[in-house]
Amino acid sequence: MSDLLKSVKYLKGVGPKRAKKLRKIEISTVEDLLYYFPRTYDDRRHVTKINKCIDGERVNLNVEVCGVGTNLRTKKRLSISKLPVKDDTGYANLVWFNQSYVLNNFEIGDEIKVNGKVNRKYGKIEISNPTYEKKENRNNIGSIIPVYPLTESLSQTELLKIISNAIKGYNNKIEEILPKDLIKALDLYTLKKALMYIHFPKDKITYKKAKERLIFDELLILQLGLILIKKNINHQKKGIKFKKVKEIKDFINDLPFKLTKAQKRVFNEISSDMESEKSMNRLLQGDVGSGKTVVALLAILKAIKSGFQCAMMAPTEILAIQHYQEITKLLDKYDIKCRLLVGGLTKTERNKILKDIKEGKIDLIIGTHAVIQKDIEFNKLGLAITDEQHRFGVRQRAALTKKGYNPDIIVMTATPIPRSLALILYGDLDISVIDELPPGRKKVDTYAVDKTYRERIYNFIKKQLNMGRQAYIVCPLVEESEDLDLLSATDLYENLKKSYFNDYNLGLLHGKMKSKEKEKIMVDFKNKEIDILVSTTVIEVGVNVTNANTMLIENAERFGLAQLHQLRGRVGRGNYKSYCILINEGKTDTAKERMAIMEKTNDGFKVSKKDLDIRGPGEFFGTKQHGLFELKIADITKDMNKVKEIREIAMKILKEEPRLNNKYKKLKEKIICKFKDNIKDISLN
Ligand code: ADP
Ligand code: MG
Repeated sequence: MSDLLKSVKYLKGVGPKRAKKLRKIEISTVEDLLYYFPRTYDDRRHVTKINKCIDGERVNLNVEVCGVGTNLRTKKRLSISKLPVKDDTGYANLVWFNQSYVLNNFEIGDEIKVNGKVNRKYGKIEISNPTYEKKENRNNIGSIIPVYPLTESLSQTELLKIISNAIKGYNNKIEEILPKDLIKALDLYTLKKALMYIHFPKDKITYKKAKERLIFDELLILQLGLILIKKNINHQKKGIKFKKVKEIKDFINDLPFKLTKAQKRVFNEISSDMESEKSMNRLLQGDVGSGKTVVALLAILKAIKSGFQCAMMAPTEILAIQHYQEITKLLDKYDIKCRLLVGGLTKTERNKILKDIKEGKIDLIIGTHAVIQKDIEFNKLGLAITDEQHRFGVRQRAALTKKGYNPDIIVMTATPIPRSLALILYGDLDISVIDELPPGRKKVDTYAVDKTYRERIYNFIKKQLNMGRQAYIVCPLVEESEDLDLLSATDLYENLKKSYFNDYNLGLLHGKMKSKEKEKIMVDFKNKEIDILVSTTVIEVGVNVTNANTMLIENAERFGLAQLHQLRGRVGRGNYKSYCILINEGKTDTAKERMAIMEKTNDGFKVSKKDLDIRGPGEFFGTKQHGLFELKIADITKDMNKVKEIREIAMKILKEEPRLNNKYKKLKEKIICKFKDNIKDISLN
């Protein structure tokens, strides 16, 4: 066993107790510790003098303890510890809260380095909650101090000590995983050097080089793994050759509208993919309301009439329910057996459906993602479609392949995904774009206002309702807490029902409701038995009620623009002039700019691009999108150019050594370790 895989509890200064705390931040081996990267750094190269301290700034001071510390207790039982210090320009107090033991560490005359925030009161200078380092203890860390993400019970100073010990003791045992010639050719740091300097950089350059090397490793391992998974998928089976199907023409002629040019073009692309032997892996992008569902339906009809089963997956049950309702209507004439698979079915109902899928008695199954992940066995799955989801990637595909299916795949989304990111999420992927809205769509008039307008807006909504329209009121998800989320929508609903809108029918919809309840609310809203639907963002995607023309969004500043655009897309779907009102408390320039974009633009691709510009891709997409292992240091969206470059290197490596058995043996071990959940999908033997 490599030394680095030893438990941290054997490290100097750790022991079982601290080891337990470390486990909370997912550190159990020495190696985990070395790969626990700083969140940021404290640059202490610049030292301030006491008389130059400015209120509110964070500073580094070199001071000497010049008096005895005191502990105070406030009425609220808060303890305050003060320690007088000086330098050659003046005096100050170091102040800690609720750490009365801290004073035991100091004696008069101690020279210490301090980092903390300046608090200037009545001419006196205090440094609050400073970190400190005594001169004699300085463990040649240098002046750039790593700052780590922490758990509650482990302090920065403790962790710093542990990691610096680990580096001292084990840096020499770090084994290089890349061959020398590659390191040289790319001018990379060795792994040893990189792991050392990522924790304790000497300067900007050493930090950058260290980071560069670690990002390289992470992306290379990710890309190699993905390529190997994909190879395995493609090796197993050829794709399906679907037939030319005569029903398509009838279906198109029977539609209550004419397909747009873009819809026709995209279906042709899909159709020729389906007829070819190559298995289809296609991303279908199109703005909200561009009519992606019909195109998907054409593909479904083609697959089923060629003798295969289809699965259609939506991100929420509500959307699945709605798809089911609409699709069954449209497919009515074509003798297609379609079932909805969502939570809340009785066991008997569910088992019956599973049995029928297995026996091929069901042609089309609609549901959430559980449809392909759980215990479901298909008889002859030919086409899998996911709606409004970027997350359906290599992994799900591999999961299907593992079950012995190799269906064609369509992923539909209203959020444009940059090509290089798409490569990571889906491997090799083709993209079709519906770049045209059906004729007659009207711009949704959008207004950003503050909450003082609320009453006026309620009156406006009443006016719309009195003309026969319906409305949505959307509440945000508060700080990702489902409970809070539920509360706020519920509260508003209860409140409005009793006050402003007591003469109207209100409905409530949120993610925690049973699917039967959700289904009922959706049906009632569609049938106009509900005038106003108070909802969380569960209605964000896909919900289609053409009579609803007004949407009020509360706390709009909390949403991403792409999400606001999705929400707004719930109105303006019929022939009525539509409105979207964004109540927001955004005060910063960025917040105002974001709202202004919503007022000005109705084009989802433009909105997304602006959002990307303002927020940066990391936040925009999140980092866990690929659904494989978590990236610790690389940011696939920020490092997009690198991704491309490294993908090419990965291809070259595999050409050179398809099994990675010699020069790349160490790298192979890493891949296996990182992809342990998916290792069966990788062809390496
Ligand atoms: P999205 O692309 O957002 O999923 P949908 O597929 O839900 O959009 O379509 C939005 C609405 O537009 C639906 O009511 C659908 O019936 C209608 N629609 C789709 N294509 C056309 C078209 N070519 N002309 C008119 N209406 C269309
Ligand atoms: Mg849709």
